[in-house]
Amino acid sequence: MEISTCPATKTTTTATGDVEVRCTKPAGHVESGDPRHEARLGVFPIRWRES
Ligand SMILES: [Zn+2]
Repeated sequence: MEISTCPATKTTTTATGDVEVRCTKPAGHVESGDPRHEARLGVFPIRWRES
């Protein structure tokens, strides 16, 4: 059985340019009542919501 990850991505601007990050939470977390996506860029957590 595959473990699916949330497909949401976000483009974020860093000192070295734009980087696309991908949510690391399990698929369906938004529907489960957790509206914030979360990714990691190095040691920095990046959180966002669907617009
Ligand atoms: Zn997500």
